[in-house]
Amino acid sequence: MTHYDVIIIGTGAGGGTLAYHLAPSGKRILLLERGDYVRREKDNWSSRAVNVDAKYHTKEVWQDKDGKPLHPHTNYYVGGNTKFYGAALFRLRKQDFGEIRHHGGLSPAWPITYDELEPYYTRAEYLYQVHGERGVDPTDPWASAPYRFPAVQHEPRIQRLHDDLSRNGLRPFHVPLGIMLDESDPRKSRCIRCETCDGFPCLVHGKSDAQVIAVDPALEYPNVTLLTNVKVTRLLTSTSGREVTGVAVRRNGAEEVFAGDIVVSSCGAINSAALLLRSANDRHPDGLANGSGVVGRHYMGHVNSVLLAISKSPNATVFQKTLAVNDFYFGDDEFMYPMGHISFIGKLDAVALSAGAPAIVPGMALDIVAKHSLDFWLTSEDLPDPNNRVTLDRDGNIVLSYTPNNAEGHTRLIAKLEHLLQHLDMHPHLVPRNLFVGNRIPLAGVAHQNGTVRFGRDPRSSALDANCKAHEVENLYVVDGSFFPSSGAVNPALTIMANAIRVGDHILERLGARMAVPVETAQ
Ligand SMILES: Cc1cc2nc3c(=O)[nH]c(=O)nc-3n(C[C@H](O)[C@H](O)[C@H](O)COP(=O)(O)OP(=O)(O)OC[C@H]3O[C@@H](n4cnc5c(N)ncnc54)[C@H](O)[C@@H]3O)c2cc1C
Ligand code: SF4
Repeated sequence: MTHYDVIIIGTGAGGGTLAYHLAPSGKRILLLERGDYVRREKDNWSSRAVNVDAKYHTKEVWQDKDGKPLHPHTNYYVGGNTKFYGAALFRLRKQDFGEIRHHGGLSPAWPITYDELEPYYTRAEYLYQVHGERGVDPTDPWASAPYRFPAVQHEPRIQRLHDDLSRNGLRPFHVPLGIMLDESDPRKSRCIRCETCDGFPCLVHGKSDAQVIAVDPALEYPNVTLLTNVKVTRLLTSTSGREVTGVAVRRNGAEEVFAGDIVVSSCGAINSAALLLRSANDRHPDGLANGSGVVGRHYMGHVNSVLLAISKSPNATVFQKTLAVNDFYFGDDEFMYPMGHISFIGKLDAVALSAGAPAIVPGMALDIVAKHSLDFWLTSEDLPDPNNRVTLDRDGNIVLSYTPNNAEGHTRLIAKLEHLLQHLDMHPHLVPRNLFVGNRIPLAGVAHQNGTVRFGRDPRSSALDANCKAHEVENLYVVDGSFFPSSGAVNPALTIMANAIRVGDHILERLGARMAVPVETAQ
């Protein structure tokens, strides 16, 4: 049996980025991925296949806290959920790393500061080819380098919204985006700026996802091996319980065990917690690395809403997700607590609307709604409640218990947007009584999952140390979204990528490996 230096479980934002970072070291690296490559096919860009048939979602069924079936909107493929993400690649704000008082309670501090993660944010942005503009967003943290590529330009309707918002005293800015769009040379641009990006896999590999950017290039190194359709079922330990000695998998219907000096779980926050809980043994009776009891707890997924504002003039935008507003992120004169982040989802069409809300605007045909709507995405922070948690049923299946919290800030954020839009040329006649249709994202929307294997300095209240190594297991790391002790209110993927590079540096040092070629020069 081959013995590996590092085994990485999961190939998404965390695992894929880590593999890329470790690959040039020459160390033997094994990537285990339960899914396959996303098949390249026309359905990649079909609104019906993606939004109505949920063709690419896992068919796995979880349960909610009442035992009701939960069909999670999550995807098991090489590249993980980044194959489907909207590629809005934000840094957390500097203050998000400290303790922040919210209306609903405290958002705890991280064991590392923004300044410690900053160099890795810069490297992750460079690697994932983020297009953006610094210094316009009033909450933007400091950065040691400009973006590698210019911001993606607004289309005319969004530019008008930008100008209207600016006239009303706000500071809208360009969303930092990981798409390989070259607006100066469209003929050669890999990204063609289409309407099926957010939630869809990119048929032409123009999106900076973890497969295209990290896993495929890592596999060019002879020391890196990827096995797909291999689900890790348990981690086995030595009799002392201090080391992982085996990674048990299900492959082609049979059980197999792989071994490596270092084992990294990067299955996504819900599946990493589930894997540790399934790996309970005599030394770890409540789940591997779970002496603190926090594994599976503090699940966060953001308080998210989709809010359609019906515009007076048609909204012909193709790629809508270019504008965001953070003026209310930390509160304002009227509400002193954080409210959150205003941005867009990809432009909804009538097919997508028919999936979620058939009676969305009474008396108005869905295609008219779709042609006029501005499709906002509002994110507020949910707080780490120990009772919001991943557990297992007696067959080892996932149970996700969640009670919403910190809702007041989100309600205020929606009210702010509603108030603003009334001053922004929204058509009162098209929708006589109800201009705005708000839809809170249900529990199955686990896109922003994080927090379930938190890192921290105190082994009594965290499962991982500041390097994302398990306090109780010498060779086990977790580098997906699990490690967040709090989640801020911007999208999580860039923070997961940056942290994977940071942990990668630590692992290289530990292995005595020559440092990887810096990401900035590895293109
Ligand atoms: C529709 C959508 C839009 C999004 N848009 C954005 C956005 O614009 N910006 C942003 O920052 N974030 C966005 N996100 C969230 C982002 O995709 C996630 O935060 C990120 O992918 C999480 O990275 P991860 O490494 O934690 O997990 P994932 O990327 O989910 O990777 C986990 C991997 O582990 C594999 N796996 C799981 N269990 C096992 C097992 N037992 N054995 C082997 N392999 C296993 C999975 O198949 C998967 O490949 C979006 C997500 C979705 C679904
Ligand atoms: S072509 Fe560009 S806009 Fe379209 S899915 Fe790919 S990355 Fe997104």
